[in-house]
Amino acid sequence: MSNVKQIFTKLSYHDQNTYNQILYRLEDIFHNCDNELQEIKEIARKIKEGIEKISPFIQQCTEIVCPACKNICCSNKHGYYNREDLVYIHAVGLKPPEFEFGRKDSDPCQFLSVKGCTLERSVRPSGCNWYFCESLLDYMEKRPDYQEFDDSLSDVATLWMELMREITKILQTFHYRWV
Ligand code: SF4
Ligand code: SF4
Repeated sequence: MSNVKQIFTKLSYHDQNTYNQILYRLEDIFHNCDNELQEIKEIARKIKEGIEKISPFIQQCTEIVCPACKNICCSNKHGYYNREDLVYIHAVGLKPPEFEFGRKDSDPCQFLSVKGCTLERSVRPSGCNWYFCESLLDYMEKRPDYQEFDDSLSDVATLWMELMREITKILQTFHYRWV
């Protein structure tokens, strides 16, 4: 019989119990295994730094493009973390915000305000940070500093892939696995 703990069950933001269970396990791992987690913390730190670096460029573009949008992408279903996001959040030493569960997918995201997203970009769900709609991308590509942004974004993407690999290794170390 396998001794692998199948605790990291598939995360669904519709299911508060599963979410809390994953959070509890992550808090446990991050609280007790500091030495083993140094590498993942360093990668997460670089990701945070990378997102903060590209944030002004994205902000300048969304401020121009998004106010005219007729189909705003910030709906409730996009405003939750996946499992990898939760590892990242813990690795940078933060706690996730309190989520309100049970909202409809089509409701406005709970973090959306009249001034836009209330979460710092570096801790938004990865689905938000990796999403650039066609209108936004069209506008971005015309800017002279687009290439610099694109290069930095690629660096963050590479780090994110590294983070995923490290997560897998860590879960194996602690005999956990995603299921
Ligand atoms: S990113 Fe695109 S889809 Fe989302 S609000 Fe801005 S313009 Fe609309
Ligand atoms: S960017 Fe912010 S407001 Fe928009 S869906 Fe993501 S978390 Fe919600």
